[in-house]
Order: sequence, then C-alpha cells, then structure tokens
Amino acid sequence: TVSIALFTQDLRLHDNPVLHAAHTAADQVVPLFVLDPAVEGAGFAAPNRLAFLSDCLADLDASLRRAGSRLTVRRGATAEQTAKVAAEAGAGTVHVAAGVSAFAHRREERLREVFGDRLHVHDASLTVVPAGRITPAGRDHYAVFTPYHRAWRQAPHRGVLAAPRVIRTPDGIGSENLVFRGPLSPSLPHGGERAGRELRRRWDVDAYADVHDDLAADATSRLSPYLHFGCLSATELTAGALQRGGPGAEAFVRQLAWRDFHHQVLAARPDAAHRDYRTRDDRWHRDEREAEAWRQGRTGYPIIDAGMRQLAEEGWMHNRARLLTASFLTKSLYLDWRIGAAHFLSLLVDGDIAVNQLNWQWVAGTGTDTRPNRVLNPLRQADRYDPTGDYVRRWVPELAHLPGPSVHRPWLLDGDYPPPIVAPEDLTARFQHGRPVLGAGERQ
Ligand code: FAD
Repeated sequence: TVSIALFTQDLRLHDNPVLHAAHTAADQVVPLFVLDPAVEGAGFAAPNRLAFLSDCLADLDASLRRAGSRLTVRRGATAEQTAKVAAEAGAGTVHVAAGVSAFAHRREERLREVFGDRLHVHDASLTVVPAGRITPAGRDHYAVFTPYHRAWRQAPHRGVLAAPRVIRTPDGIGSENLVFRGPLSPSLPHGGERAGRELRRRWDVDAYADVHDDLAADATSRLSPYLHFGCLSATELTAGALQRGGPGAEAFVRQLAWRDFHHQVLAARPDAAHRDYRTRDDRWHRDEREAEAWRQGRTGYPIIDAGMRQLAEEGWMHNRARLLTASFLTKSLYLDWRIGAAHFLSLLVDGDIAVNQLNWQWVAGTGTDTRPNRVLNPLRQADRYDPTGDYVRRWVPELAHLPGPSVHRPWLLDGDYPPPIVAPEDLTARFQHGRPVLGAGERQ
C-alpha cells in the first residue's frame, strides 16, 4: 500500500503527525509538497518567504534522502496535483495537516471532493492545542487570551513523535525544480529543520523572562520563521520547555500559547484576516505620504525608524518593535491597520496570516485586546525598552554619533534628521478625536 504525506506548514521529520500517520498506515510513502498558485495569487508569497521556503524544501529533501526517501515537489492547484501524484504512485490515502486560514479551508474542501474518505486530516500538527479543541461555554472560540491561556495549560498536549528512521518511497515519481526569485532583504536566516533545531539548541531560554523585551539585547529565540513553516514543532518546543521549567521557559511557553490563540481565532473567523474582528473602525485617517514615511523608516522617531529598517534588512523585527511600529501607524498616525499588516507580510520571513493579522488588530484596537484604547508612546517606550539607545544606533547609523538615550530625541540635538511627522505632544490626538474613546486614552 502507498500513502501520500502532503506537506504544508509542517516541513519537518521530527514530531510530524502527518508523516507519522502516512508512514504507519502504508508500506510506502510519497512525501509531497505542492506550491499552489492560489498562495502566490493571494499575495502571501513574499520573496523573503519564498527564499526561506526554498531552503526548507532542500533541507527536507536531504533529510528524507538520508531515510531512504525523497521529496516530490509540484506546482499547481493542490488537489489536482495531489490526484496526479496519487495516480502515478498508486496511492490509496492522503494525509494532510488541518490549516486555519480561508485558503487552507478551501484546499481541504477541494481535497475532500477529490479523495473523499481517503483523505485524512490531522489537526495536531500546526499548533499545540488544535484550533477549536478548547472553547468557552456557548462560543466556538476564545476572544480573550487570559482565560484561553488557562484552559490551554490544562488541556492535554499530545506526546512528541519520533522522526521515522526509514521511509520507503515508490520509484519513478517525477519532481519539479522550483525556481524562486531571490530574497528582498539582504540578511535573511537560513531555512530548514536542521537550521531551526540548531538555533533552538544554541538559544538560552533561561534568560528569556528577563530580557525578552530588551530591544538591544536581541535575546528572543528568533524561532518564528521556523515555526511558521513548521520546520520546528510547537508541541515539541512546548514539551521541552515545560520539562526544563523555570521562569524563562514559562514565559516562552506563554508566547507559544499566544500563537495558538491567534490560530484558533482565525480558524473560527477566517474573515478576520481582512475585516475588523470586533470594533468596526472606518474612520481611519488617509495619508499616503505618512504611510510611506513609516514604511521607509523616516518618521522622525528613531525607535520607530529603527524597527522598520530592521524589518527591511532582516525580514524580521523584534516583538517590542513590532508593537511600537504598529501602534505608531494605527494609534499615532491613525492609519488603517491593513496598510501596516500588508507591509509586514510583504517582508516578514515569519509573516503569518493568523499571527500577523490578529496581532495587528490587537494593536489597532479592533481585535482581541481587552484595552483597545491604549496608545504606546514611542518616546516612553524607547526610554524603557532601549534605555541605552543601542538598538537605535544599530539600525539608524546616521544617528550613531548621538550618545546614550539622547538618540531617541534627535530634534533636540541634530538638525539633519527628519523632523517628527507628528509632534510629540500630538501622539495620541488623532486617535482620541477620530474615534470615541471611553474615558481618557491610556498612555503606557
Ligand atoms: P519569541 O519571543 O522567542 O517567542 C517564541 C515564539 O512564540 C515565536 O517564535 C512565535 O511563534 C510565538 N510568539 C511570540 N509572540 C507572539 C505573539 N504576540 N503572537 C503570536 N505568537 C507569538 N509573529 C509571527 O510569527 N508572524 C507574524 O507575522 C507576526 N506578526 C506580528 C505583527 C505584529 C504587529 C506584532 C505586534 C507581532 C507579530 N508577531 C508575529 C508576533 C511576534 O512579534 C513574533 O512572533 C516574534 O517577534 C518572533 O520572534 P521570536 O521567534 O524571537 O519570538
């Protein structure tokens, strides 16, 4: 018997429920990846992610070869290509991970039409707790993180699966060579399961609780692209951290629960990728010149500009900088969160439809934040999270001559830097006037 393991966002051999099931169910397995033009058409295939994906596929193929198998790659509509490969290989069953986006739902429906009950969908591959597995009374998903997190910790987490040592694969199944354009950003990480596992091995989780918000320390795991493409399993990372224990591991596991949280929101409300999730806001200010200054990292606020330049250079941004740049766009400039979310998705190597769009909505106040009126003041946040100014000097070299935290307010010292596009005293003004604010806008 032959089965197909259809890889999607689970490009790994370790702890892979899809591969494990396909391998257990049949004598031979065809590991298959299909690059579906619907993903490219929907604008989710940014060059940075395609470059990383190409590393992931090469690494997966190399690991499969060591196990006596190989990866088959095809381009085209997923269900049709899978049907072709099934016919070529004489495969009876298809195994695939459940996804949460509208695209993943459609893909699964189409696979179901083609394969009927020969399709096996595994819901425990992408997240630790499958979307929809835990729900509050009377609702199909959690809209607030804290109770979700409590339930998530109590929910059973499945056991970690070993990587299959030997995989037998039928001969003669042709594979395409996908040609990817180069990345946009010059300093991208190298993709793949082995690179991800090596990074995890070298990273110090124990220090995480104390340093994860320190911009200059750059001490978070940087595992997000590997989690996005499934080079690493969130279940395996969670189990490893919980076993280790301690405040760093606890704080890290909490972030992985945030990842699951956004996935379960999107699974229940796929429209939240593009439409306001909770509070409808259509009074956004419109100003393309300001949006472009933000994209370019020329807002006149060095802490914002540093984050945007890190994104352009690395295809990645520190979480604190993501919060600040997103708050600046939506609360200080009062521009539509979709403008920011689209720019992030065009560059982030970890750019994820669930996590990106719902974090943007969280910051914009249209999503799941229970304090939607908070405004992050970039100057206070800079003093708190980049107290030495080193993060700004790293990413905004033209200010490298300004000492210590004075780098956060160049208008006091350096006439050459672009002036702030919003005056420091007006950082919350548009938001407060544009939109009904309950009580005073909270400043953090
Ligand atoms: P760590 O701090 O080491 O955290 C470990 C893992 O937990 C991360 O790799 C990630 O998978 C998960 N995680 C951490 N923070 C969050 C969070 N707030 N929400 C959900 N999961 C989280 N993350 C993405 O993976 N893809 C995105 O497209 C994305 N867009 C974002 C957009 C905005 C506006 C904001 C505020 C945050 C966004 N994040 C996104 C979440 C977070 O910023 C990144 O996951 C994190 O910075 C990645 O760095 P790390 O791997 O070192 O994180």
